Amino acid sequence: MIRLHVTSDLAPGAAVAPTLDQSRYLTQVMRLKAGDDLLVFNGRDGEWCAEVAEVLKKGVILRAVEQSRLQVFGPDLELIVAVVKKARVETIVEKATELGARRVRLVLTHRTNADRLRLDRLDAIAEEAAEQTGRLDVPLIDDPVKLETLLDDWPDGRRLMFCDETGGAPAIRTLAQAGSGPWSILIGPEGGFSPEEGDRLRALPYASAVSLGPRILRADTAAITALGLWQAAVGDWDR
Ligand code: SAM
Repeated sequence: MIRLHVTSDLAPGAAVAPTLDQSRYLTQVMRLKAGDDLLVFNGRDGEWCAEVAEVLKKGVILRAVEQSRLQVFGPDLELIVAVVKKARVETIVEKATELGARRVRLVLTHRTNADRLRLDRLDAIAEEAAEQTGRLDVPLIDDPVKLETLLDDWPDGRRLMFCDETGGAPAIRTLAQAGSGPWSILIGPEGGFSPEEGDRLRALPYASAVSLGPRILRADTAAITALGLWQAAVGDWDR
């Protein structure tokens, strides 16, 4: 069944207007016709069964019929990742969406060699991954900010899993001891964290330096591994 992320409010009989690109996908790629069914979600009102109400010259009109799933959100988990090569950032956004990150925050660190990133493309990748993976929301992708700025303004009550390739505690043990709640996972750039950044991160009361094993992982591999470990240890994989 096709799942489509839309922005319209969803209620019985509500008209839903997909974007022009989405309309083209529905009618020209998926060959939907008036009366055909699909699923829609908007990140607020749960998932709804909908039907193609009208195929126009430019676009289609869908109509929400009945709610198929109540709105639920995954755990309060965000991924903070240093900007690496564009292709790897795109992989990280797609996998973070599948692995349930609520937000992906891009950061600039001392050793970031920032590729020019297009946020609209990252948003589209996150949206498509959310549709495929069956989520009821699309993760927020934040513009790159300096890591220092993020740390200077850290919210109370949020823990930070700092993936430290120079050595940290075993991730599963750290997570099992700290328990669930709002967490962020931090992955460094291809050149790793600078000594100053590592010292600052290890001194943070809310941060836990963890190891992802004895081998050096690429940033995308590290992000996928850390997200999986977190979900298995304290996330929603036991639901
Ligand atoms: N400094 C590394 C080197 O010597 O090649 C490169 C950093 S690695 C490509 C990118 C990021 O992935 C690291 O900053 C860290 O956050 C994470 N990472 C990679 N391997 C890791 C490991 N074995 N344990 C913990 N974190 C790791």
